[in-house]
Amino acid sequence: MLMEDYTTLDFDIAPVGTSRLADVDFSNLAFGKVFSDHMFVMDFEDGEWKRGEISSYGPMTFSPAMMSLHYGQAIFEGMKAFRQTDGSVSLFRPGANISRFNFSARRMGMPEVPEDIFLQALVEMLKLDHEWVPSNPDSALYIRPFMFATEAHVGVRPSQQYRFCIFTCPVGAYYTKAVKVKVEMHYTRAAHGGTGAAKAAGNYAGSLFPTELAKSEGYDQILWTDAATHTSVEECGTMNVAFVLDGKMVVPNTSDTVLSGITRASAIALMKHAGVEVEERKVTVQELVEAADTGRLTEAFGLGTAATVSPICTLGLPDSDWDLPEMSTWTIAPKVKSLLDDVRYGSGEDPFDWNIPV
Ligand SMILES: *Cc1c(COP(=O)(O)O)cnc(C)c1O
Repeated sequence: MLMEDYTTLDFDIAPVGTSRLADVDFSNLAFGKVFSDHMFVMDFEDGEWKRGEISSYGPMTFSPAMMSLHYGQAIFEGMKAFRQTDGSVSLFRPGANISRFNFSARRMGMPEVPEDIFLQALVEMLKLDHEWVPSNPDSALYIRPFMFATEAHVGVRPSQQYRFCIFTCPVGAYYTKAVKVKVEMHYTRAAHGGTGAAKAAGNYAGSLFPTELAKSEGYDQILWTDAATHTSVEECGTMNVAFVLDGKMVVPNTSDTVLSGITRASAIALMKHAGVEVEERKVTVQELVEAADTGRLTEAFGLGTAATVSPICTLGLPDSDWDLPEMSTWTIAPKVKSLLDDVRYGSGEDPFDWNIPV
């Protein structure tokens, strides 16, 4: 999607009188707990989107019969804006998040949000709240667009009213400790024909109990396997996953049971651009067990917007835990992280013109 010049706004802007910025300790940001001054709200009613507004971040009031609470029509996105090394602010691949949002909307029987209004809202929010974009290393402004059914109605059918919102959170470096993951042989995140490829709220609800169970067994996250046979690896927690097998970066392919991550796609494109071979294919649990036994599995990591690259230190395989080699010996994961950071923070090349300056 191209950003077009626009002279008129498709929504209203009511800036806050007093910013809360002075109350924020930017050297100590808890992830997702601090919210910037403004949010965007736009309602869908009578078959169309009404005029939206950027105004003060704050609570909302709804009917107890609001359909999203009962039947779960709720979707979201997660994206980031970065303080560039030259001091300016850029959005990273917003068009990719906007199209994925509308993919999720279609799958959940919800109306699509017009792409131009979506992008305009992001840009105007960031102009208003540009001082909320942190400049500490590894920090960013996390952006959360979401939509949910708002009609008050009891009875299962698509809602006729929706609210689309965007708020933002300044975030510091994410959870960088290497994680222990349990290869899940019973519970399932996504099945063929289901909603796993959509960023639908219910997908996360369904993963909470199995993840808590894994935590009670000493793991941090789940390595999800295919629903039918639990023989191939799909995702790690709420991230995509990659392995280094025989020195090669291997990434499970996407399908309707794997969410098509923008970090994953960007990592693959940047590695290939840097001349590194990447394989996208089915990865089986058996293959990981054998590679681990023979020392050919040397790195494993999650890929996602929140954590970027999340190293895995231990695989909880069906029969035993297996520890990966010391992270100081890894080469691929650090390269992925630095190539992504070079683009996102403007400290290096942006070979695919992914950054959209605001
Ligand atoms: C959001 C998400 C990802 C990662 O997507 P990014 O676009 O890289 O942030 C991967 N898997 C699941 C289940 C997700 O919800």
